[in-house]
Amino acid sequence: MAYDSNNIFAKILRGEIPCQRVYEDNQVLAFHDINPKAPIHVLVIPKGAYNSFMDFTIRASFEEIAAFFQAVTKIAEDLKFGDNGFRLVINNGPDSGQEVPHLHVHLIGGKRLGGMA
Ligand code: 5GP
Repeated sequence: MAYDSNNIFAKILRGEIPCQRVYEDNQVLAFHDINPKAPIHVLVIPKGAYNSFMDFTIRASFEEIAAFFQAVTKIAEDLKFGDNGFRLVINNGPDSGQEVPHLHVHLIGGKRLGGMA
């Protein structure tokens, strides 16, 4: 599937739509979800144009993939979930309910979460 450069997260990356940023480096941006499902709900996205987890892990370099997931870990540390833990969700494709066609990791926590829907 071709990357849609008009998706919402592409617009956030270009600064056309604001976000509540929690972390940024040269490859990664993280910001609060606009519709949080828990007290802490942060989205982590790569700056590269990847429409899904599968697209990213197939096309990105090992360095990009490592940098991305290391950033996810750093952000989780910064959010101070601590020993209480958190949930990490990546929706991939229509059956998962993926709404935005730019890879994003949901970091969700800050309360005892229920079972997976
Ligand atoms: P998905 O269902 O694609 O895995 O998750 C997309 C997430 O993006 C949803 O949790 C939704 O609330 C969030 N979202 C959609 N539009 C915006 C936006 O404009 N800003 C922010 N910060 N989050 C958004």
